[in-house]
Amino acid sequence: MAQAELNYNKKNVIIVGGGLSGCLQALYWSKKGYKVNIYESRPDPRSQKYYSRWRSMNLTLSERGLLPLRLVDAEDGLEEFGIRLYGRVLHSLDGELKKRKYGNPNHFILSVTRQQLNQHLINLADNDPNVNFHFEDKLIDADFNKGSAVFKNIDGTHTETCRLFIGSDGTYSKVRELLMKQIRMNYWQLCIPDGYKQLEMPPTANGEFAMDPHYLHIWPRSTFMLVALPNKNKTFTMTWFMSFQKFNELKTDEDIIKFFQKYFPDAFPLFHERSLVNQVQSYPTNKLITIKCSPYHHSDKVVISGDAAHAMCPFYGQGVNCAFEDCMILHQILDQNNMDIEKSLAEYSDTRQPDAEAIVDLTLYNYTELRLLVNSKSFIFHQKVDLFLHWLMPQKWIPLYIMTQFTNIGYAEVVQRSKFQNRIISVIECVAGVSFLGIISSIGFALYKYSKN
Ligand SMILES: Cc1cc2nc3c(=O)[nH]c(=O)nc-3n(C[C@H](O)[C@H](O)[C@H](O)COP(=O)(O)OP(=O)(O)OC[C@H]3O[C@@H](n4cnc5c(N)ncnc54)[C@H](O)[C@@H]3O)c2cc1C
Repeated sequence: MAQAELNYNKKNVIIVGGGLSGCLQALYWSKKGYKVNIYESRPDPRSQKYYSRWRSMNLTLSERGLLPLRLVDAEDGLEEFGIRLYGRVLHSLDGELKKRKYGNPNHFILSVTRQQLNQHLINLADNDPNVNFHFEDKLIDADFNKGSAVFKNIDGTHTETCRLFIGSDGTYSKVRELLMKQIRMNYWQLCIPDGYKQLEMPPTANGEFAMDPHYLHIWPRSTFMLVALPNKNKTFTMTWFMSFQKFNELKTDEDIIKFFQKYFPDAFPLFHERSLVNQVQSYPTNKLITIKCSPYHHSDKVVISGDAAHAMCPFYGQGVNCAFEDCMILHQILDQNNMDIEKSLAEYSDTRQPDAEAIVDLTLYNYTELRLLVNSKSFIFHQKVDLFLHWLMPQKWIPLYIMTQFTNIGYAEVVQRSKFQNRIISVIECVAGVSFLGIISSIGFALYKYSKN
């Protein structure tokens, strides 16, 4: 019997990538009684002190990502290493702080370190008898039609076969690359002109947080911005988004110090000056990539999820949330189709792709909102009307940010509903503007008449 036929009857999957979405996929497949083998190219993060040191050390999880964790009992324990954030603090140039809560008191996002979240999920999957990890074992080739793939580890190469491959191998996915050669896949990639650097703000001299730890801190500066997220060890991870060109202009110690003093005057004294300069000079500037592709699967042989299918910029804090939601939705579709894998993968591609595309676009829009619009008076007025209408009709009217973070409404529907709401707010603004002009002109006319008498 051919290997492909043998595999067809087996309940086993290979997951490529033991990152955040790969581990959650493992928990979902194991729950269905599948044997899961996870191949991860990097070493076991539990064995390394400085795992991925310069890659996005912090992430925020919102209800959209927490629900998929909850459904496989993976949410417990998160708060031990996570910190709840209830809103944003905007730091203006003159040092003024504007606190803005997310909506209602139940709305929070959880700031966690990528390393701890990954370790948490690896521990859960590792304790599951259906799951086997293979660290430092990298996918290098595959023939998905035959259900076989080649991996490389310290001992050389080896070929593995399985019923289904799941590509959870991130932005530079090898599974996606191989899939593109084997099927007709549309692929779109954008490298934005801005990059990011991550810095660490230390605790105060008495070991406390240097700023309020229950808020996301933002220094919006039109063409660039600085964002800070708290860590349990009382530090803040700062992510500085700016064009590569501007980063390259900061050549000397003095350039860096002057830049911080000018644009982030209240953050500057919270760093040790020497350490700040060292960090800026020695930490790399990372690029930001956006990827869309379609479809996400091939027959009943392979499917991609997480960043492998839709890498997005981090401006909405949705990458992991969306990747976790991918797992939940794929498995809901499998359940609805009685585990008919071929039918489910096709349905998954069809339904998930428009949602993923919508959030990929939304993250790019949010960069403009975060660094530019948050300071604009008309935007603030717009937000107030939005929140007021939400307060009046909490079920029917939900502001864009709340829909994105705190509900599981499909992203494409989120965008449609938000466009509709924006049109209504524009009409309200217009009516308010015309009424205001009417009142002003009436007062002006009355004063004119009065002065003539
Ligand atoms: C600066 C920054 C901030 C972010 N902030 C947030 C946030 O606040 N909230 C949020 O939701 N998202 C955030 N994100 C996005 C988030 O990090 C990603 O969406 C998320 O990590 C995707 O998970 P993943 O499992 O799909 O991919 P990854 O986490 O990249 O995991 C992929 C894994 O596959 C492995 N791998 C790759 N190739 C192979 C191979 N050939 N063989 C075997 N293994 C392989 C890799 O080693 C890796 O472990 C941020 C991203 C950045 C860059």
